[in-house]
Amino acid sequence: MQCQRPGILRKDRIGYQAVNRAGKGNQMETGKTAIVTGATRGIGKAIALELAKEGMDIAVIATAQNERSEKALEEIGQTGVKVRLFTGDVSVQEDTARMMEQINSEFEHVAVLVNNAGITRDSLLLSMKEEDIDRVIDVNLKGCMYMTKACLRPFMKQKKGAIVNISSVVGLMGNAGQANYAAAKAGIIGFTKTIAREYAAKNIRCNAIAPGFICTDMTAQLPPEAAEQLKSQIPLKRLGAAEEVAHLAAFLAGDKSAYITGEVIKVDGGMYI
Ligand code: NAD
Repeated sequence: MQCQRPGILRKDRIGYQAVNRAGKGNQMETGKTAIVTGATRGIGKAIALELAKEGMDIAVIATAQNERSEKALEEIGQTGVKVRLFTGDVSVQEDTARMMEQINSEFEHVAVLVNNAGITRDSLLLSMKEEDIDRVIDVNLKGCMYMTKACLRPFMKQKKGAIVNISSVVGLMGNAGQANYAAAKAGIIGFTKTIAREYAAKNIRCNAIAPGFICTDMTAQLPPEAAEQLKSQIPLKRLGAAEEVAHLAAFLAGDKSAYITGEVIKVDGGMYI
């Protein structure tokens, strides 16, 4: 399946970089660190790159160190910021606590957490296996909760933090064949609003992004006919690019969104209006 990117994106990105060099980007404080889970490919990598271009150091969380993670780190590192890999499973609370300890000893001011790691295990509910229900809820929802929990103390100590959770339009509208995934992504929305309420007094913001169909490895398995049918249902008549989600994530992570919390913003080409 071909990913159709709008021509304006590249032009924007070059402009964006130029603005950042002049220090007038999204008012990210340089010397600050962002944690991005599942950042070795797809939307997570695009977000890590966007935050790095804004001058943030990056802690990449991935399940394993391999050729893919090395390449991603190299690419992010080329922006000139500090970038390190931390391996573990976000659905295992001990892993998240250990990784957070390692991140805190390697970086000074962790100010941003992007909960991006996610998986799908699709089938109709009648044939959905218990292990597929558990795994999808564990990685998508519990992973987001464990990582957030691990970050809260450092955020509270510095009286500042921005959490960006990657949900999905499927969590808002449902989708046949994705009961486990839709429930997990809807759960993230309730979780986001709760964290926003619980920690606003500590100047910790928590927002969610609900992407529609974005061109990544996760959607690449779609047969061409299914992709065409999908596009016809999207008012903007194309799948989204990972960078288009990353632009919003960078906005929500930075000070230009300082008065926004508990919000869920769709990036879906109008798919769910
Ligand atoms: P992807 O499969 O390309 O990337 C997901 C990343 O998460 C991978 O790097 C993977 O290794 C990592 N990951 C998976 N399980 C993990 C675990 N237990 N611990 C740590 N890392 C783990 O997917 P993507 O399309 O880039 O999706 C990124 C996020 O956006 C996901 O949360 C996904 O649900 C969400 N999303 C994607 C789309 C889309 O159309 N692609 C739409 C809506 C929402």
